[in-house]
Amino acid sequence: MPDYDAELQEAGIRVTAIRSLIWRTLRQHIRNAFTLNDMVDLLVTIDKSTVFRTLTLFSEAKLLHLVDDGMGCQKYCVCHCHDTEVHHGHVHLTCVVCRKTWCLDELEIPHVDIPDDFTPLEREYVVKGICAKCKREWGRR
Ligand SMILES: [Zn+2]
Ligand SMILES: [Zn+2]
Ligand SMILES: [Zn+2]
Repeated sequence: MPDYDAELQEAGIRVTAIRSLIWRTLRQHIRNAFTLNDMVDLLVTIDKSTVFRTLTLFSEAKLLHLVDDGMGCQKYCVCHCHDTEVHHGHVHLTCVVCRKTWCLDELEIPHVDIPDDFTPLEREYVVKGICAKCKREWGRR
């Protein structure tokens, strides 16, 4: 089992009982992009504002990516960037029917030439569509 507390320390985060619990829960139970409410549902003993502040801390420490799912919903996902110097993110798929967002961790965002006078901080690449499960249910109607 990975040492989750060590992952926090390596990211420069001081480990507390609550941070440790939130990070461990997230790493063990979440595989794709998630919302604040998804986390609150998993962490019944911790209040929502604490969960929000902790997720913000994790995002600032680059343990999480902030994801706009393309449908007006703020989500997060665990950073698996191989090169930790460059937090360039990966492609996401959002289903417009069930509104789930999947991470394509191995698929880096394609390079795009942008004007020299604009300094990029973060990039996002979301493909909206219909997932396989929703498509099957669609076909049965
Ligand atoms: Zn990353
Ligand atoms: Zn779907
Ligand atoms: Zn992701």
